[in-house]
Amino acid sequence: MSDVLAVAEHRRGELRDVSFELVTAGAELAGDGNLHLAIIGGDVDAFAEELSLDGVDTIHTVAEGDEFNHDVYVQAVAALYEELAPTYVLMGNTVNGLDYAPAVAESLDIPLVTDAIGLENDGGLVVTREMYASKVESTVEVDADNAAVTIRSAEWEPTEAAGEPAIEAFDFELDESRVRSRVTGFEEVGGGDVDITDADVLVSVGRGIEEEENLELVQNLADALGATLSSSRPIVDNGWLPKDRQVGQSGKVVTPKFYIAVGISGAVQHVAGMKGAENIVAINTDPDAPIFDIADYGIVGDLFDVVPELIEQFE
Ligand code: FAD
Repeated sequence: MSDVLAVAEHRRGELRDVSFELVTAGAELAGDGNLHLAIIGGDVDAFAEELSLDGVDTIHTVAEGDEFNHDVYVQAVAALYEELAPTYVLMGNTVNGLDYAPAVAESLDIPLVTDAIGLENDGGLVVTREMYASKVESTVEVDADNAAVTIRSAEWEPTEAAGEPAIEAFDFELDESRVRSRVTGFEEVGGGDVDITDADVLVSVGRGIEEEENLELVQNLADALGATLSSSRPIVDNGWLPKDRQVGQSGKVVTPKFYIAVGISGAVQHVAGMKGAENIVAINTDPDAPIFDIADYGIVGDLFDVVPELIEQFE
């Protein structure tokens, strides 16, 4: 039996999906033990209400600041750990998580395992991770009583069922002298306020599109479907779309209802970012393209013939 402390994540007033996935992973790992969920910063009361989910025993709110802050999170998680003495601490393997999780582990003097895709607690913690761009799966047996782990987004189903956890404001005194940075504002980079991780339908374009001016064709398909345009990395490397449209290992992890891959081969680094889509449709001239191995629907054909036909049908 192990108690688990999971740390929720939010940005600009909204909980991130990984918070709901952390509840699932945390409840699994805790088994008969307690799952504590920490909410640090932002509208903690509203977040606590939203995160009153099945499997959570206690929510601990820390009303410090509006947004993520490295020093506040490290101090708050360390203080919660001292107070609650959980066996394991779970955080998201996200930009924020990777920012503060190592500092948490260091300050608590416990090991950190990052990017977990599976967790087992059988008299000790066993973590499954992928290595070498998802080509190899490794099993890490943690040789310590306590550990911190970051979990990969979209590997656990989000918990949706309501629960009745206790909600407690954590009595926490921030050491201001150790807060060395503050978020003063946000500026969107590139693609405006499009967040491909929120889209239900993504039309994703790859190198098969050949020229920048041909992107309009794929954009028209996205418009006909009310979908959002995303891409593989070469499109971003060419400067044809902003970085925040890139799906994959060095881009974003997406889990839309429909993912339509147009002229994308299905390299492991791309698949790492979209394999969690509910339905995958692939359009590719090469019947042996690896994308067809994971596609639910495949169209072997030239995108310059297939896409105009699809637009006409959808319109
Ligand atoms: P290609 O592999 O060149 O595939 C183009 C496809 O289009 C081919 O299958 C071809 O048959 C098809 N095609 C050509 N013409 C047509 C046509 N007329 N009609 C229909 N189909 C056609 N990649 C990512 O996408 N995201 C990442 O985050 C990412 N991170 C990486 C990180 C590292 C460390 C490394 C080393 C690589 C990374 N990559 C990433 C790159 C990745 O390895 C691939 O090079 C990339 O995904 C290939 O993109 P693509 O499928 O668009 O291009």
